[in-house]
Amino acid sequence: MTIPQSPFSRRPAWSVAAIGLPLAILIGGCLGSPRVTSDSINRPAPTAVAGFPASWQPAKPLRKWKSIVLHHTATEAGSVKSIHAAHRKRITNGKPWLGIGYHFVIGNGKGMADGAVEATFRWRDQLHGAHAGKQAQNQHGIGIALIGHFDKQPPSPAQLASLRRLVFHLKTAHAIPTTGLIGHGEIKKTACPGKLFPLATLKKEFAGKMPTR
Ligand SMILES: [Zn+2]
Repeated sequence: MTIPQSPFSRRPAWSVAAIGLPLAILIGGCLGSPRVTSDSINRPAPTAVAGFPASWQPAKPLRKWKSIVLHHTATEAGSVKSIHAAHRKRITNGKPWLGIGYHFVIGNGKGMADGAVEATFRWRDQLHGAHAGKQAQNQHGIGIALIGHFDKQPPSPAQLASLRRLVFHLKTAHAIPTTGLIGHGEIKKTACPGKLFPLATLKKEFAGKMPTR
């Protein structure tokens, strides 16, 4: 038998909420911090390291990364979520994939915001990729996929700006060699990342200093 809960037992929680929330807003306001929401009360904001998003800095010990492999999804739309769902259905050598094969995805406004960069569980957990079709690059290559079909239209300016920022961050943070930025088609017989993808320009830039912008 359950004992009916006294309405008074809720009082302390009520009191905390009634006093605590306005107090938090007041304190936050005094310090000039951004507007306090229930979300920011419960969770500290991620810390940006050296001007880059915290999600780009994996918490796990790092793998020895040697290259960055660029891909397009060859689809009009997509997101980490939709690719993850599709890749979980794939089977290689009788084993199902863990999930999305890339380490990062850059959105095009159809499924993810245009230019949005999302790190996947493979990056967070510093796992091998499933994107290159080659053992060496799956083990030691960071897989970045841009949503879009770049045989049909080029990546958006926002996607390219985000990609530049990401690859230069990875180059610096993980000591990727200046020749380490490669298109998927350079290691496997595939049109990926598409004929309208500015691969030659990006490779040239990558070999030099980080662009100042
Ligand atoms: Zn590819």
